[in-house]
Amino acid sequence: ERSYRSEGQVSGAKVIAQALKTQGVEYMFGIVGIPVTEIAVAAQELGIRYIGMRNEQAPGVCLVVSGPGLIHALGGMANANMNCWPLLVIGGSSERNQETMGAFQEFPQAVRSSIYGRPGACYVDIPADFVNLQVNVNSVKYTECCMSPPVSMAETPAVCMAASVIRNAKQPLLIIGKGAAYAHAEENIRKLVEQCKLPFLPTPMGKGVVPDNHPNCVGAARSRALQFADVIVLLGARLNWILHFGLPPRYRPDVKFIQVDICAEELGNNVRPAVTLLGDINAVTKQELASQKSLPMNYYTVFYHVQEQLPRDCFIVSEGANTMDIGRTVLQNYLPRHRLDAGTFGTMGVGLGFAVAAAVLAKDRSPGQRVICVEGDSAFGFSGMEVETICRYNLPIILLVVNNNGIYQGFDTDTWKEMLKSQDATIAAPPVCLLPNSRYEQVMTAFGGKGYFVQTPEELQKSLRQTLADTTKPSLINIMIEPQATRKAQDFHWLTRSKM
Ligand code: ADP
Ligand code: MG
Repeated sequence: ERSYRSEGQVSGAKVIAQALKTQGVEYMFGIVGIPVTEIAVAAQELGIRYIGMRNEQAPGVCLVVSGPGLIHALGGMANANMNCWPLLVIGGSSERNQETMGAFQEFPQAVRSSIYGRPGACYVDIPADFVNLQVNVNSVKYTECCMSPPVSMAETPAVCMAASVIRNAKQPLLIIGKGAAYAHAEENIRKLVEQCKLPFLPTPMGKGVVPDNHPNCVGAARSRALQFADVIVLLGARLNWILHFGLPPRYRPDVKFIQVDICAEELGNNVRPAVTLLGDINAVTKQELASQKSLPMNYYTVFYHVQEQLPRDCFIVSEGANTMDIGRTVLQNYLPRHRLDAGTFGTMGVGLGFAVAAAVLAKDRSPGQRVICVEGDSAFGFSGMEVETICRYNLPIILLVVNNNGIYQGFDTDTWKEMLKSQDATIAAPPVCLLPNSRYEQVMTAFGGKGYFVQTPEELQKSLRQTLADTTKPSLINIMIEPQATRKAQDFHWLTRSKM
């Protein structure tokens, strides 16, 4: 047992080991030799786990001798650097007759630069005479552990632009790279995948951030997913050989990339992205989630939240154009003869009557069974006055009016006003437009039922919870959606087919 410590003195090796421990280092890998052996011993004495390797390639803190040791470590350093792994390589070099303490103070800085920004390799050279030098214990000051990396967020306009590019994508694809794994962004990425109904593809080391068996994982159809996507969100993955450089023929020539990375220099490498989001993936994903929520809802968002709360045994009555078509694909039926819609003849205006009949039947035969009537705003207009009938018999029907201010499509209030500034509505208003922001829920309150006007997913969720809990009264939820929302070609036939 060698000890370099005399009374009140501490060796350079112990100072180095203590400095590493202060920086939160728990593991050290290496191949020792002169003069770094003492550092490994000192590290072990302080409780740092030392793993002696046979080749100088290992992440964490790597202890090597100078010259050949460092040169061998270069392979590992390059590997760590390319993979964005924080790595501190400590080498012992030859003795120097120089002032010593300054170099010790290099430690915190080195640790910081290996983990801040894009993580990578960092080399600290320790002259041999530092290692065995005896210094007064009280003269050594350890810089406290550096703060965990500051979290950076992307600029708001870019976040909004990305939200709208994703929203308008026909075949969006999320590529989850290893940067997403390093950022511990799994929770928020899963939310984004589910909230925006995004298919995703993990890179080799991005696998597992969202589990491979998630229904939106298109790993099995990788080539097709890349080839047909019109919008690709890159979460911590570089457009290098692994992703075929982002270029045709593996991608559409007009594909729009939304690139999220912590390293500014990486943005715009190989392709010109439609949007760049510079920041930490976890933070940026959170921003993106918030931004998606503040956009006006579309059919898919509405039906996603409705489907979440619908009782399995309910009657679903539905009519409208997009409302009925899209609703049919998203809203699930589990029982026969429990869905009624415009039917073979495509008749509008039958929904409220059907709902009354179903509710009367339910009241007599299976009390508590609910009737949900999902109406487009135009469809609701055909028989809206049946609300009075519903209230007269006090049938606890839940009427949902999916309101896009028109037949097929409408305009928002501002566009509507602008359009009618100089011209009469009979000349200027497109025949498909209905009065924007019509308060259909007041038809319900007029007769004593409950009315809700909702514009956000939260308001929708809350009003649905309340109406489903109240079995004593009819209610109408007027759900405002994006007036120009249409059926999104977010069907992935092209992917599911190739999976077979
Ligand atoms: P893959 O091999 O999975 O495609 P790459 O190594 O090509 O991944 O890309 C990883 C990217 O992730 C790098 O460009 C890196 O800058 C970035 N990155 C690493 N950590 C973070 C983080 N916390 N937030 C954002 N980007 C990160
Ligand atoms: Mg409509």
